[in-house]
Amino acid sequence: MRIGFIGLGNMGGPMAVNLVKAGHEVKVFDMSGAAVEKAVAAGARGGASAVDAAKEAEIVITMLPAGQHVRQVYLGDSGLLATGREGTLLIDCSTIDVGTAREVHAAARLVRAAFLDAPVSGGTGGATAGTLTFMVGGDDQAFARAKPVLEKMGKNIFHAGGGGNGQAAKICNNMLLGISMIGTCEAFVLAEKLGLAHETLYEISSTASGQCWSLTSYCPVPGPVPASPANRDYQAGFTAAMMLKDLKLAQTAALASGATTPLGAQAAALYSLYEASGAGALDFSGIIQMLRGHKPS
Ligand code: NAD
Repeated sequence: MRIGFIGLGNMGGPMAVNLVKAGHEVKVFDMSGAAVEKAVAAGARGGASAVDAAKEAEIVITMLPAGQHVRQVYLGDSGLLATGREGTLLIDCSTIDVGTAREVHAAARLVRAAFLDAPVSGGTGGATAGTLTFMVGGDDQAFARAKPVLEKMGKNIFHAGGGGNGQAAKICNNMLLGISMIGTCEAFVLAEKLGLAHETLYEISSTASGQCWSLTSYCPVPGPVPASPANRDYQAGFTAAMMLKDLKLAQTAALASGATTPLGAQAAALYSLYEASGAGALDFSGIIQMLRGHKPS
């Protein structure tokens, strides 16, 4: 299949390479010439612009930093919606606000273009290994077309419902993750003060009602889960800055929709403090150090 791929950063770069490896003809574009060169060295063709990368494609995938970049690439007279070839399926895999995703869906409907929002989880490791989780919003027909291609970059492909629901699923999940990580960290900090060993709390809580992913798969103290970032001085993993981005998106959506999310707001405030302490590039589980009153390592 002919695929256009726009945005070749930490995530998009390896995702585009996986499509090349799967035998697709991939034409790429990024504002960074170095990122384009890297993809070309891996077998992609280089495009002169986003529109050029998209012009012959059957499917176009974008992987951009934020909503403003997605607007820039899709909307307006020189955007993909206005310039695209009829019948091309457009898939935005960036993590952006639900409002912008729904606006692009509405603009796509006006010009009868097929569009999906399809944010991912799984980080750069998942992007390289081709094991990402995709949360997809859009109609059934477009989802059915996208699925075989997304399967070359990911392991779990979920259809979350109509336009914007991929972004909604992602921020609801990550808000829950941020809250549960802080809760898990607080439990360990309290245990330390009470003289309860990390291993003992882990052993009990991992089989009791406090069990959650932040505890059993990503434990914020070293020892119980050997692969967790706590065992390597909180090197990311999933950075605190990325968690903060997603928590802010969740708060924007809560405000716009009228949802009451006081713990989500508190989690966003705590990750803002943690980032302001200089820890944005550390793993998000490192917030336990701030809760102990320690400087980031
Ligand atoms: P990144 O900053 O490494 O890459 C973004 C790329 O987009 C850059 O190479 C930049 O030059 C390019 N770009 C920006 N504007 C452009 C434009 N107008 N035209 C063409 N290229 C443009 O970011 P990333 O880590 O690859 O993340 C991409 C998206 O994936 C973000 O929305 C992020 O929230 C999401 N995400 C990231 C991770 C992660 O672990 N890094 C995990 C899940 C989701």
